[in-house]
Amino acid sequence: MNIIRLSSGSWTSPRRVFSCLKGLFALISCTLLFSCAGSPEPGGEAMIQPQEIRVYPANWYGDHAAACSITFDDGTLDQYAVAAPELDVRGIRGTFFVITGYMDQGAWQDGSYIRRLFDWDQARDLAWRGHEVASHTVNHVDLAANPDEAAKQLSQSREMLRDQLPWVCGLSLGWPYWRSSDQAVALAGDLYIAARAGGIQAEQGDWFYGGVNGYSPRDFFRIGARGILSSDKKDDLFPILEEVYSNGGWLVPNFHGVDDGRIARDAVGWEAISLQDFRRILDTLQEHDIWIAPFGTVARYILQRDALEMELASDSNLITVRYSSPLDPAVFDQELTLVLELSEQFRIGQVYESGSGKPRAFTRRPDEAVRNRYLINAPPGDGDLHISLIAYR
Ligand SMILES: [Zn+2]
Repeated sequence: MNIIRLSSGSWTSPRRVFSCLKGLFALISCTLLFSCAGSPEPGGEAMIQPQEIRVYPANWYGDHAAACSITFDDGTLDQYAVAAPELDVRGIRGTFFVITGYMDQGAWQDGSYIRRLFDWDQARDLAWRGHEVASHTVNHVDLAANPDEAAKQLSQSREMLRDQLPWVCGLSLGWPYWRSSDQAVALAGDLYIAARAGGIQAEQGDWFYGGVNGYSPRDFFRIGARGILSSDKKDDLFPILEEVYSNGGWLVPNFHGVDDGRIARDAVGWEAISLQDFRRILDTLQEHDIWIAPFGTVARYILQRDALEMELASDSNLITVRYSSPLDPAVFDQELTLVLELSEQFRIGQVYESGSGKPRAFTRRPDEAVRNRYLINAPPGDGDLHISLIAYR
């Protein structure tokens, strides 16, 4: 193995190297083909011969095969006391769609039931622990049946969340009763980054239609979800999981109550399932190669991934990937996983951020079809990554 020398003789600061690369950029989208025709330097080792390199964003963060967002509706106390700790011990971050108008009083009159809700301190605690707290409207209004309520329900719940969790930029929404209207969807588009509907098994035109989400959903304000009900057979979710998984799509299970048998009855949410069944579902999800992340996080990833523009420059054994996004980095702040496929003569030596010069982690992903398939997580926004290559002898 031999370290191919840079034209400057050795690795210098990324900033300096980048200045040598200006003018070499060529606009690319997904597949990058370029050659860096090299010739032996006098007295030196052989330079890199023409290469084929591909750089593209992975479908999912970490290059997982599919994505999943665990969502909860209504903000009942069992979700805070029973479900969230179970997620925490597994390293899973979920999404809690809360009814903002009832959290101060700690209870919601749900038909003939009074359900206790977690409060804003507990909501902040969930957010502090990495979970997403998002909107389920102010009063849990059916916006398909009450379209005139949409403006108030969507804007005021957003304002309350921004008051209580002021560091959260860009909120998501879970439609009450999994349904909306064209008018409500149009309003939500101005206030939220994405919204969860329901009915992934419903027919198009059904009131709760959501559809099975592929890796790039068509409508970010009608994202399909699968309600998990107490009447479900224990395995009902799993064929859907397999379908989404084989398509490389996005599974959004929607839970309400999770009951450990000890919590007060009025603290348990609608259609509660047992903690044992909840664990079984999580076990099955975690047996798959799935990126499990909050709803808004996955939505951000998709939107940023699909908006990403990249340019590539090469000079000898140095590659620079310049990436940019038209999206507001204050809201769209998700790291993206880039895949870099190299010809077999090379491996990555180092990856640096331009400007700061900070080194970045990379890993080679085992792949039978492509031997040299590397993953690099790019910071959000715009930036340059400098990647030095080392040749195998
Ligand atoms: Zn609800």
